Amino acid sequence: MKSIKKSDDRIPYLAAAPTVQAKCDAFELLASNGQFDEAEGRNFKVAELNDSAMVDLYDKQFSRNQSTEILRNGIKNAAKNALCPYCGEGFASELDHYLPKTKFAGTTVHPANLVPACGDCNFAKLAYKPGPDKPAILHPYFDAAFDLPWLTATLANGPLGTPVVDFGVSLPVPAPELEARLKQHMTVFKLWERFSTWSAQSLDNFATLLRTEYGASMTLARAQEHLQLTSIQQSGGRVNSWEGAAHMAMLESEWYLSVHFGLT
Ligand SMILES: [Zn+2]
Repeated sequence: MKSIKKSDDRIPYLAAAPTVQAKCDAFELLASNGQFDEAEGRNFKVAELNDSAMVDLYDKQFSRNQSTEILRNGIKNAAKNALCPYCGEGFASELDHYLPKTKFAGTTVHPANLVPACGDCNFAKLAYKPGPDKPAILHPYFDAAFDLPWLTATLANGPLGTPVVDFGVSLPVPAPELEARLKQHMTVFKLWERFSTWSAQSLDNFATLLRTEYGASMTLARAQEHLQLTSIQQSGGRVNSWEGAAHMAMLESEWYLSVHFGLT
């Protein structure tokens, strides 16, 4: 509230502060119980203020004022390796409202509802809100699933014989509810398409390497060794790295190495 310059303008916000605090507490309770899909059925409105006043508090005060800059940067800097936790690839340059600010007024300026994200993920997600038929996407502060290995990839013989990497979700231990959330996460952030498109570059790089650097001297064993090493290097120790998964898919495809490139 200190960010609001004119003291008269602060009065309605100060009056609403206990309600906002109660909504933030309710958010954290849902989060720690893994019940984001129940958020829509709960009342996250701030009775003392209309929704647009809370959106204004974020858009015109929190996201712009110098007094909140340290807090904003602190949230952004919490992103591991400065990477967007939603996709694991883009630069975490923005703040995304996990529960959209237009629909959950009470959590508009709650730091636990603000997730560092890349511009592409923030744009793809828009105002997605979980609900009974819409599984919650992963929340990096609360979901242990970020540390489970669940991203898989396979290499397919695409149209016109062009190799294509397709991504999938598979958990080490069956957990249908979590699997539905992971698939929804991939869908909401368009990661099925984005990972596949990015992998096209990896396929190009490998084809160029075979053509130029190794030429006729490349063997199947050397190619497999190269892809294994590249998979480890590119994933940088991160689970669910699309690059790691893509290179493993290239390594494991007999068609790709033996038929498409004719390696023996
Ligand atoms: Zn992202």
